[in-house]
Amino acid sequence: MTERFVVVGAGTMGLGIAYVAAGAGHAVELVEVDRARGGAAVERLAQLWDRAVQRGKLTAEQAAANRGRIALRAGLAEVAEAPDVIVEAVPERLDLKRAVLTEAEALRPALLGSNTSSIPIADLARELARPERFCGLHFFNPVWAMALLEIVVGPATAPETTDAAVTLAGRLGKDPVVVRDMPGFATSRLGVTLGLEAIRMVADGVASPADIDKAMVLGYRHPVGPLELTDLVGLDVRLDIARTLQAAYGDRFAPPPLLVELVAAGRLGKKSGQGFYRWVDGVRSDDTERPGPGTSTEPATGAAR
Ligand code: NAD
Repeated sequence: MTERFVVVGAGTMGLGIAYVAAGAGHAVELVEVDRARGGAAVERLAQLWDRAVQRGKLTAEQAAANRGRIALRAGLAEVAEAPDVIVEAVPERLDLKRAVLTEAEALRPALLGSNTSSIPIADLARELARPERFCGLHFFNPVWAMALLEIVVGPATAPETTDAAVTLAGRLGKDPVVVRDMPGFATSRLGVTLGLEAIRMVADGVASPADIDKAMVLGYRHPVGPLELTDLVGLDVRLDIARTLQAAYGDRFAPPPLLVELVAAGRLGKKSGQGFYRWVDGVRSDDTERPGPGTSTEPATGAAR
């Protein structure tokens, strides 16, 4: 069944959700207020489809059909009423998300979801008129490769909404977990713990980012180390999540000063070309020097990998 699927925010996650929804046959409206980012998302989507064709995962006709299912919108005001699903994937800020959700709710979607990584659904739902239709739809990065969909059930979420979210997961080819509404849910609370500790270890000069990551990949069979993952997620995104979790659980989630410094310096990870690693054309190209205290915001140099 073709659904009208609206994704708000065409950043890292929004474009991934749009890609997967279009691939599942849905008519997708991708809403992005920043014109440059909207254009960049359309280009990136075209690259993803080209790559899928090159790798033999899609025919050229299928890729063209998927591409044709996505329409870019400059604001929710351009979206027609009563879509089947609206998922917001705007930055992890409570006020911004609440404003977007209020505007989205006015369009009367059958299912309203937030891709928040950490903010309780109850807090996001506080100003909604129909919180029973709302739940967390937490996708993972990159959305086309990650099987998990974490469905977060708020105190007002109706059982039918949870059922609809589970059904949606199946249609998008995702494997859901249904979790209770706590800050950070099941995934970010654990994943961010590891990421923040790894950043503290870089600041302490325990080892280079590459060696810390290698230790977790080879020693614990993590598919990617915590610092490379932080680069992939976005340092700014992780900082916002840490602040949310600090407010909920206390200083064990306090953002390390190094993370704050790197974000202030514009080192946001893969998307800005530099984080704990340097990224060239989306590929991790070299390592930072073995850092020590006081070297935290030095530009990344070091041997090419
Ligand atoms: P991002 O900064 O890459 O993208 C957010 C996009 O939203 C930007 O393009 C921005 O211009 C746009 N935006 C802001 N206000 C808007 C509005 N009013 N209407 C439409 N678009 C608007 O962020 P992201 O990494 O994609 O994260 C989005 C959400 O997904 C956050 O809640 C984050 O915590 C969560 N999340 C991120 C990851 C990850 O790996 N990056 C993983 C899971 C969940």
